[in-house]
Amino acid sequence: MKRTHHCNELRPNHAGQTVTLEGWVHSRRDLGGVLFIDLRDREGRTQTVFDPSDLAPDVFETAAHLHSESVIRVAGHVRNRPPGTENSKIATGQIELQVRELTVLNHAAVLPFSIDDPEIANKVNEELRLQYRYLDLRRPEMLRNLRVRSKVATATRVFMEEQGFLEIETPTLFKSTPEGAREFLVPNRRDPGTFYALPQSPQQFKQILMVAGVERYFQLARCYRDEDLRADRQPEFTQIDIEMSFIDREDIYALIEGLLKRVWKTALGMDIPTPFRRMPFVDALNLYGIDKPDTRFGMELVDFTAEFRASTFKVFSGTIAAGGVVKALNAKGMANATQGQLETMTEYAKSFGAKGLAFIKVENGEWKSPIVKFFTDGEKSALKSKLAIEEGDLILFAADQWLTACEILGKIRLYCAEVLKSQGRLVMDPHRFDFLWVVDFPLLSFDKEMNRWYSSHHPFTAPVEEDIPLLKEDPKKVRGQHYDIVVNGVELGGGSIRIHQPAVQKAIFEEMLAIPPDETKLRFGYMLEAFKFGAPPHGGIALGFDRLIATLCGTPSIRDVIAFPKTAKGTCLMTDSPSSVSTRQLRDLHLEVTAAKKETTPTP
Ligand code: ASP
Repeated sequence: MKRTHHCNELRPNHAGQTVTLEGWVHSRRDLGGVLFIDLRDREGRTQTVFDPSDLAPDVFETAAHLHSESVIRVAGHVRNRPPGTENSKIATGQIELQVRELTVLNHAAVLPFSIDDPEIANKVNEELRLQYRYLDLRRPEMLRNLRVRSKVATATRVFMEEQGFLEIETPTLFKSTPEGAREFLVPNRRDPGTFYALPQSPQQFKQILMVAGVERYFQLARCYRDEDLRADRQPEFTQIDIEMSFIDREDIYALIEGLLKRVWKTALGMDIPTPFRRMPFVDALNLYGIDKPDTRFGMELVDFTAEFRASTFKVFSGTIAAGGVVKALNAKGMANATQGQLETMTEYAKSFGAKGLAFIKVENGEWKSPIVKFFTDGEKSALKSKLAIEEGDLILFAADQWLTACEILGKIRLYCAEVLKSQGRLVMDPHRFDFLWVVDFPLLSFDKEMNRWYSSHHPFTAPVEEDIPLLKEDPKKVRGQHYDIVVNGVELGGGSIRIHQPAVQKAIFEEMLAIPPDETKLRFGYMLEAFKFGAPPHGGIALGFDRLIATLCGTPSIRDVIAFPKTAKGTCLMTDSPSSVSTRQLRDLHLEVTAAKKETTPTP
């Protein structure tokens, strides 16, 4: 006898019907000898009633001893709940099931943590949740995240299909092409000493697909990066990967705006306005100190280089004389910042190489700071008017080279916002989404340590046409045809129009990036070869799918939207991977492990 309904289906109009439900024992209450079990399945919950006067004594006994999360089947009559006992919080809250039959399909052992607690994510350590991921995923919030993920994947596929895209799978056993992040290698048994690499992205294959005449490609692609994981990174993650031929940047903007419109409508029922705002990289840094600005709040950075050029305060004027800038931000109402908070901000500044952090507290009508005595009245009034200084404000300065000064204050701006949020003084509307295209990135950035240029995005990005003559004269001025899509300070993705002429691509590799010709041949030879046979102009983008879903679900952690995520150390606590392998496997792969053997605890 199978279930006749799911646990979120019965309503008052089912009253009187005989039905069968299956699911997990979510919670149990004993009220005056009558037992109430909330039965849960993927769809929701239904209250079931075990009344000893309706049931054989052994059935009642069995029910009374069920552990939470045991799997049961119950059959009985639907009835309206007695007046006053309805539960408006759940969709089945008007009815209950008067149980006549019970089958225990499986007993559950005592749980490592309770699933019936909406606050569980804050109470239980995440490692335990990851170890028992299948239990954690039973929580309605987590199931909802998986559902949103699935819906958005489908909406993406439907939308892309409508737009004429082909979904094409590219290999995950690829070739090692170090371009930034470290790769995962897979040893090749058939040819000792050779390796596949897991792709960091399908970048090269998708460009080759354009050479192959596919014109419009997309894929929900799994990508791998063996980086030391920062807070919210995963060694494997998913991208909506896209490439198109015969297009320019505007086509990508329009496509992605259309896709995100569809996604927001599907997942949240929201109509997001398009087109999105666009902001050049330089403006993003100047105003927000970051290339993925959160524009939902102000506290913008203000430049004071002109005002302090001739200042008697040598820290400022000296920096400017050395080609640097002076910037400041007004952390509104934060004059009462604690010593600890100021130290944190100073540490941020120091992490960028600054010696310290200059600040002014505006308290009791006074500007409190050891540096104020160096300022002229003109300098003070410039600060006052450009920063709209009022009682209770905290003014923070950065005097450094342009990028560093921007980045220091950018980081401090976000920190101040967090402090204000935690105090309830800055409130973010959860339904507000500030989309933004960040454009006109520099094509190349300079690595001082290595004394060479590297690609700001990747080496396949085309320069902005009118900047090409500057490539030789002044490479840092060359803008790339690169774009990032940002929402609420989160980078959702990025891409570029690509170089499609083999000679230009070769020149970028060899002349600008100083990759020796034999290495270029080894790493990218097949691409340059392919491009000789009629590569169409093309471009593309990749959106971080995990990040996109996390944004839609309103969770800060991508681990909450990945069924089986890894920890920050790159481990899977449920399967205990990575793990050591047998000597025989190593022998087959012609590998020898030289590192000392790690102590492993045997799995029970
Ligand atoms: N392959 C790039 C990335 O993974 C995206 C792109 O340029 O399309 O970031």
